[in-house]
Amino acid sequence: MNKTIKKIGLILVIIILLPAVFLIVNELASFNENEKVLEKIYSGQLEAILFSVNQYSEDVAGSWATKVDVFLDELGNVSARSSYEKIDSFFVELPSLVGFFIADSIKDSQLDFFSSLRENQLVDEDYDSLNIVAKNLLQDNQKIITRLFTYKRGGYRKIEPVENKFVNQTSVLIFIEETPDKITRLIGLILDPNEFVYRILSPKIQEIAEQDFVISVQNPKVNFAYNSTKDFEVTDLQQERALWIFPEYTVGISLVGKTIEDLVQQRVITNIILISLLTSILILGVWIVYRNVKREVQLAQIKSDFVSNVSHELRTPLALISMFSETLEMDRVKSDEKKKEYYKIISREANRLGKIVNSILNFSKMEAGKRKYNFVESYINDVAENVCSSYKFHLEHLGFTFSLVKDETIPILKLDEEAVSEAIVNLVDNAVKYSGDNKEIKIHTGKENNYAFVEVEDRGIGIPEKDQKKIFDKFFRVSSGNIHNVKGSGLGLSIVKHIMDAHKGKIELFSEVNKGSKFRLLFPFNSGKH
Ligand code: ADP
Repeated sequence: MNKTIKKIGLILVIIILLPAVFLIVNELASFNENEKVLEKIYSGQLEAILFSVNQYSEDVAGSWATKVDVFLDELGNVSARSSYEKIDSFFVELPSLVGFFIADSIKDSQLDFFSSLRENQLVDEDYDSLNIVAKNLLQDNQKIITRLFTYKRGGYRKIEPVENKFVNQTSVLIFIEETPDKITRLIGLILDPNEFVYRILSPKIQEIAEQDFVISVQNPKVNFAYNSTKDFEVTDLQQERALWIFPEYTVGISLVGKTIEDLVQQRVITNIILISLLTSILILGVWIVYRNVKREVQLAQIKSDFVSNVSHELRTPLALISMFSETLEMDRVKSDEKKKEYYKIISREANRLGKIVNSILNFSKMEAGKRKYNFVESYINDVAENVCSSYKFHLEHLGFTFSLVKDETIPILKLDEEAVSEAIVNLVDNAVKYSGDNKEIKIHTGKENNYAFVEVEDRGIGIPEKDQKKIFDKFFRVSSGNIHNVKGSGLGLSIVKHIMDAHKGKIELFSEVNKGSKFRLLFPFNSGKH
């Protein structure tokens, strides 16, 4: 039987648990990869956002370059100082543009300047010093400028930031344009980057960032920091790139509240929790199935044992009865004494047969829930007394010392006397069957809390602790006991339990292997009151 159960266990493990474990291990193993991919996607997304901020600022710079070019064309050859109104309104349109200069070539010695500052705020000396700075700037950036000219010849206008040596906190973007009469000219936009970030980039950044991101533009050199969200630690930025048009400035981004690692970790934790939950449910399920199957297999085994047991039990008395009755029938027994002995054997065996059949019938009635109980007011002492007096002779004949000690103060209870006698008889029967050489049986009645009890005590083989609960199950017999020598069906105690349940009572068992057992039947004082 153990083999079958082990086999079933193995099959369950193989067909359910193994694939599941495989799946789970696989899932756990692919976690790392998945999370890496996820992290990559996240960073890609952040990168794309930074790219779009850069793209936008470059677009703005480009459109301004065009505007400046168009403006210059419109202004034609008019001297810069003569169209103040026009110049003023032009600069109002392009906030953060401080001014721009125009040169014919790198070598140009007299550059034209346009400034957002009103004319009366700039004096000739200013223009002179600006001229020198701008000329130096052109000299310093010859390489870039030559490249820009090449681009232009190829029909492509590029805008390049150049190192700024103008006024502090401004940046210069240069590009090449043509006048209407196709003469190339170099234009340098002088911008205030801080202003540019606040006035031009900020609305765009706010729009991109929304609630999900913090976008920050910084230039530690000039102590500048702009954040799309006010309460944000600048050190938390997850990605940072230089701004194309202002290389000294960086634009950085971060997820609001949490980092990518947080997000990924959160996902890993949720997944692991889910998987562990799933595994636990699976293991629980397999365990429940295994337990049920095991129970069924054991029950099937117990039932088949029961059938062979019972048929053996029935066959022995039947064989004895038929043997002795045949001997008597043939008149082979001469002495009266012998005859009497044979009759005795026949009646004893018939009795035993009757008992077995009775207990089987009783049991099947109980199982079907058909046994009726008849509760009447009775004294438990009387019931115990009756059992004792009918058994005393028989037990003493078998060599037992047998005693009954009664507690006379037990109140009247509602009992089914016949059923209670049957329960006590079953206990006494067992005490006889499972006693070794120490043949002593005691019956006690008494009170405990709100219960009256009858207990049957023997000094027999005892019951191992692990089996003490199981002996009340139907068909169960302790395998380590002498079940092969002692006849039994494994029904007696389950009948006792059934009877006690009907009385709303309890059974207590105190037993020690090789020392003896004590079965105590407890009846509540309000027993039988339904
Ligand atoms: P059985 O017909 O086998 O006696 P029971 O239901 O009466 O069936 O008892 C179940 C098992 O409990 C017995 O097979 C025996 O192993 C154990 N048992 C019952 N009573 C005693 C006892 N007084 N001493 C030792 N073992 C006992």
